[in-house]
Amino acid sequence: MRELIVDLGERSYPIYIGEGLLAKASSYFDKHNVSKKSPLMIITDTNVAPNYLKALTVQLADAGYKVCSAIVPAGEQSKSLSQLESLVTIALQNGLDRKSTIVALGGGVVGDLAGFVAASFMRGVRFVQVPTTILAHDSSVGGKVAVNHPLAKNIIGAFHQPDFVLYDISTLISLPERDTKAGLSEVVKHGLIWDEAFVDWCIEHAPKLLDKDSEALSYALYKGCSVKAKVVSEDEQENGLRGILNLGHTIGHALEAVAGYNELLHGEAISIGMIGSAHIGVYFGASESLLHKTTLALESIGLPTRIPAQYSTDEIIEAMMHDKKFKEGDIVFIVPTEIGKVEIRNDVPVSLIKEVIERLKQEG
Ligand code: NAD
Repeated sequence: MRELIVDLGERSYPIYIGEGLLAKASSYFDKHNVSKKSPLMIITDTNVAPNYLKALTVQLADAGYKVCSAIVPAGEQSKSLSQLESLVTIALQNGLDRKSTIVALGGGVVGDLAGFVAASFMRGVRFVQVPTTILAHDSSVGGKVAVNHPLAKNIIGAFHQPDFVLYDISTLISLPERDTKAGLSEVVKHGLIWDEAFVDWCIEHAPKLLDKDSEALSYALYKGCSVKAKVVSEDEQENGLRGILNLGHTIGHALEAVAGYNELLHGEAISIGMIGSAHIGVYFGASESLLHKTTLALESIGLPTRIPAQYSTDEIIEAMMHDKKFKEGDIVFIVPTEIGKVEIRNDVPVSLIKEVIERLKQEG
């Protein structure tokens, strides 16, 4: 078992990464003094529930926790205000109170949604992340929780840190191949922003990662979580440094919005966005090798690197204007300067962004 700390002073919390952790979940809940008097609500989705909900419920109930649960439809569409309202209804019907804990059992969708329920129910209750996707190594750490608006992703949200993250990598066995690849996109991202040697490691170990080799996965998730934890510890509320975690997100979020949140997975959209950012990096003077290695890393995982031709360039630009990365009239871009280093820029000309989008379409 590997353990990491997100260092936020009094609100610091651990991330536990290992195999078989769900089977001993109650010991972690006990260690963190989760209330046994107030009901605890597990929020999960229709794909995760059949595999893991019963095991976690029984584990916790046997240890004396008052457990209830709610199952939302799998998929990005569940990150909505209407789903939030339904979950609050279930919480009230089950008698949750201010000492209750919300447990997110699932991927980034469940984590973001359940986290926002925890942030807003009675103005904030305790929250535990139990991630079950690779991508959730990113989403479960750092306390950003949100739902989507039809016009913009993650636009209604809060910062609400979990009490701890219990990452049982045995759950990744059942993760479909497409979600495995999409999750590895954010793993590669953590290398691209911080650690060139880790990008090389990802390229070399791509076949093992795709095979879900437990030692390779455990190391990759530990490294990815370490980068995220370091950055979040330095800039919890994204006043500066934390922005670098958005590498690939300016184009990526816009693609997700244009695609209607169901065609492209988040990790796939970010993969294409990271290639776009590498093109912009080269425009600002980075070596061509930056683009080549970024492409190699993402292609070795089997991720998309091109924009589907049917998406309109103008609609993509329009979607960028609604994103949180549009600030004071400028589109904010995370631009790589070399592998492992990025800078935050707000002077990327719209004409260049259009050119890059067109190029990403034509090469498809
Ligand atoms: P997801 O939660 O939709 O999970 C992907 C799919 O895998 C879903 O169909 C889900 O039901 C299924 N699934 C989950 N665990 C499984 C398992 N163990 N076995 C079988 N199936 C399983 O999506 P995701 O890729 O985990 O996360 C994407 C979301 O994360 C996006 O909404 C994105 O905005 C968000 N995100 C948030 C942050 C943050 O800092 N809060 C960071 C990155 C991404």
